[in-house]
Amino acid sequence: MIAYFVMECAVDSRIPTYSGGLGILAGDTLQSFADLEVPAVCVTLLWKSGFTGQKLASDGTQLDSIQEWDVEKYMQPANIKIKIPLGGKDVTLTAYKYTIESTKGDNEIDAYFLTPDVPENDPETRKICDRLYIEGGLTRLKQEIILGIGGYEMLKAIKYKPFLYHINESHSAFLIASLMKDMNDLNRVKSRVVFTTHSPIPATFDKFAMKDVAAMLERYVDKHVLYEIYQEKLEDNDELNLSWLAIKNAKNVVAVSRKHKFVSEQIFEGYRLKYVTNGIHHIKWASAHHKMLYTKYIKGWEDDPDLLRGVACIPDSEFAQAHILSKESLIEMVNSESDASFIPEDFTIAMAKRVTQYKRNNLILSNPNKLIDIAERKGNIQIIFAGKTHPADPDGIAMIKSIHNASQYIASKTKKVKIAFLENYNIHKANIILAGVDLWLNNPVRPLEASGTSGMKASLNGVPNFSVLDGWWLEACMEGINGWGIGPRPAWTDLSYSDDVQDLNDIYGKLEFNILDLYYKNFSDYLKIMKMAVSSIAPYFNTHRMVSEYVTDLYLTGIVMCYLEREKTGVCDM
Ligand SMILES: *Cc1c(COP(=O)(O)O)cnc(C)c1O
Repeated sequence: MIAYFVMECAVDSRIPTYSGGLGILAGDTLQSFADLEVPAVCVTLLWKSGFTGQKLASDGTQLDSIQEWDVEKYMQPANIKIKIPLGGKDVTLTAYKYTIESTKGDNEIDAYFLTPDVPENDPETRKICDRLYIEGGLTRLKQEIILGIGGYEMLKAIKYKPFLYHINESHSAFLIASLMKDMNDLNRVKSRVVFTTHSPIPATFDKFAMKDVAAMLERYVDKHVLYEIYQEKLEDNDELNLSWLAIKNAKNVVAVSRKHKFVSEQIFEGYRLKYVTNGIHHIKWASAHHKMLYTKYIKGWEDDPDLLRGVACIPDSEFAQAHILSKESLIEMVNSESDASFIPEDFTIAMAKRVTQYKRNNLILSNPNKLIDIAERKGNIQIIFAGKTHPADPDGIAMIKSIHNASQYIASKTKKVKIAFLENYNIHKANIILAGVDLWLNNPVRPLEASGTSGMKASLNGVPNFSVLDGWWLEACMEGINGWGIGPRPAWTDLSYSDDVQDLNDIYGKLEFNILDLYYKNFSDYLKIMKMAVSSIAPYFNTHRMVSEYVTDLYLTGIVMCYLEREKTGVCDM
């Protein structure tokens, strides 16, 4: 059994226990585990008030709200309680179980959502895990101890015997302390841990003062155990960095794209990483129209997404029709949620993702007059923006405001460029937007996009990607054949940052001289690129392939090691 630990997990579009890519990836991974019959169990936290809801005030300020949802409507109480010591308190934890059914309905994967919200705890403790990523400091530390150590103890209490713990991003790395407590042998602990690092931005790594960690865990493990697993004696005010804790104790450390491996090896000096490029669940992310089309022409694509390379055989007219129908649904949504009055005939671009500085969500609006010029010369442009920012992120809040202001300016100047900001981006909206636009725009600062997955979802639906050459796109992009790159193509080991001006010139230049001409004057060639987006990307950039790589390159290694250990010592924890 593989124990898959993750801070956020998006298992259902009605359950707001996620903020962005990490949670969506977890949900897609579990779906592929179920489909491919990988023996696994997931441990995550029950965010009863979600991450944040989003509305925009009339001046473009993001207004936050908690995301209420009915836990018992979607999840089963696991009917089990455990206690862990957390500082001076004994905290009682329970879990709710969500069962992910395989696509064929013949297999299941369980995900346990832990919560301290039980009557045994005091009111303050009950709230610790209410909201995802909103609180920092000691609350964040408590959340991560509940995830790592509470999760470990919960699996034990339910009588799971995982032979491998897959730590997805370092939030759950405290489970290493539990493993050490039970095994008391650093090498055995390491052979049980796979760590996937998801962020190439060291500033975002979780760090806590040693004295806080020691105080929080003092009745669980001795301080010396913490020194031992950190392989360093920390003073009280030194920071314990969870990414380093995970790196030092994982037999295998995994990056999420080839580029990210090289970026991470610079951050984690002295360590060699493997990489498994992220994917998406192809059935979840195909629009209803594309699903029907693929089922008609590519028998077996659900079981084997590799077969999607056969998209070339679909008649152009039917392929175009699936796109037009998806686009009509999107335009209907845009027009019902905004007064932008989009029309289906006009070229439509989407920039939909979390709003955070490195993603440069507003880059394309940097020079509104230039954009208007291009539209006047080459044809109308409609742009959809969507995405939430962390409520405490001033850069994100300012970026949303600037999108709002630029769109008001543009609306006062022309009808040739139309802009809509769709509030409250979520899985449901993502599904509609990414299948219905004509171009998927993504321009993060290179090399900070570890992988990215939204462009894979667009490609699966025949929407070409127009993206900075970073993360997964650096592996996939064939310029002008399955989409377009923004900025130069860097070497794998090149860590230089993107230049805003250079990237912006590429965005405007390629829109004007490549993309709009194709779309408006030579749609049959645009259609070729749309088909190539599917046939060259969907067969590989999916979670079935990703999970298969994890199984063969990482999980099976764990089993082999376990057998070797049994030969040597007679003990195997499987
Ligand atoms: C896929 C997805 C993401 C991740 O998007 P990236 O652009 O790859 O960061 C975030 N939010 C939602 C709702 C998604 O569907």
